[in-house]
Amino acid sequence: MDDTNYLDSSGDKIQASINITTQFYHYHDVNINGKINRTTFNKRQCSSEDTKERSYRIKNLLKDLPTYETLYKREIDAIENSMCIRCGKNEEETWDHVWICNDNEANLDEIVRESISKFEEYLNKNGRSEDVTILRDHNINIVTILEERSNILLGKSRIWEMLRGVFNDRFNHLTKVKEEKAIIKECWNFIYNEFKNRIWLIRCEEVARLEKLIGIQKQDLRKKRRKEQDKRKEDFKDENIENKKTNKIDKKKQKKEFDKKINIVTRDRLIGSVTDRNNIENIWDLMPKIY
Ligand SMILES: [Zn+2]
Repeated sequence: MDDTNYLDSSGDKIQASINITTQFYHYHDVNINGKINRTTFNKRQCSSEDTKERSYRIKNLLKDLPTYETLYKREIDAIENSMCIRCGKNEEETWDHVWICNDNEANLDEIVRESISKFEEYLNKNGRSEDVTILRDHNINIVTILEERSNILLGKSRIWEMLRGVFNDRFNHLTKVKEEKAIIKECWNFIYNEFKNRIWLIRCEEVARLEKLIGIQKQDLRKKRRKEQDKRKEDFKDENIENKKTNKIDKKKQKKEFDKKINIVTRDRLIGSVTDRNNIENIWDLMPKIY
């Protein structure tokens, strides 16, 4: 299973989930909005990496990553039940389970602490000694905020807010100095990405390995999507007639590209024009998660 499996959902489903998420945050009065100072961001082309990252962030926020629970609900043929195949503990592979599965190489607290050191190492390597000083002034506070109880996720620490991608307002109040705010934000993004790299991406590799062992192929996980594609194919029948003479394989390739574009358009519409051409990391904390 690869990253692009996130692209499965239809726009409507995502919209519905966003509405629910929005209500949730409104209800709990979480400050996830802010003013966007456009001039601080570098305009740049929207790379495929950034597109993938946006997709992950949104799916993750909505708890709609392609876990076995999600795939089972989507009635993917090859998925017989929603149980986690990594730990074999007979537990459902829900979004929550992914982060605490026994098969993970490290637990959440460990990853937070190690990430801070790694971030410092990264700053050092890039000759950013002033930023290292800033980080050292704030690293304990960052860990403390993350390890304290969340006010919105009952019984859980704020790490779980970060896992979803919710930037807690308390990080904004650690300092009034602009440069320090920037380092805190960069550190937040660094840890967020470490969770993705050390848990989610490793999970996907491992699940793909295990699926291969039991004979599940990548295309088996796309069965449902194919049906949707066929439906769309009919909608664009007229266009296809014109292309009749084109090589069949070429056609298939074109269709794939076209679907990909639809997905990108749908997703980008969700994110809104505000974020276009901006690196998602720069604006994620400020991005109103309301549409
Ligand atoms: Zn597990």
